[in-house]
Amino acid sequence: MATSRIHARNTKQLELIWHAIKDDKSHPTADQLYDRVRKKLPRISLGTVYRNLQKLVADEKLQVLMLGRAQHFDPLVERHQHFICESCDRFFYVLVESQKEIKPAKLPHDGFKVTSHSVAFYGVCKYCSS
Ligand SMILES: [Zn+2]
Ligand SMILES: [Zn+2]
Repeated sequence: MATSRIHARNTKQLELIWHAIKDDKSHPTADQLYDRVRKKLPRISLGTVYRNLQKLVADEKLQVLMLGRAQHFDPLVERHQHFICESCDRFFYVLVESQKEIKPAKLPHDGFKVTSHSVAFYGVCKYCSS
């Protein structure tokens, strides 16, 4: 049946995209993943890659990090922080020693509830500073 064939193709695309990112620590963008996936599946479109990435995010297999207007995808959903190079826009993993909660000194208004926080370190990576 045509529908099951479409379903099989969609599953294959999703698996290929997942394999392309699951061990990737470079926090690639959809465009970067598209270039990678296209080598194996030349007819795949950027839209398809993007849709599958959103699906993986919805399944909590990936998290999305925004840098400017670009979305970067991160397969490590456990808590970690990032060092972001201001020169090349690359993300690097930073493991913080302390898992202590950071509390804001004052929330903008009573009734706000903090559910999580993230800390990012900005600077110049070793590839850009040499
Ligand atoms: Zn990360
Ligand atoms: Zn850099």
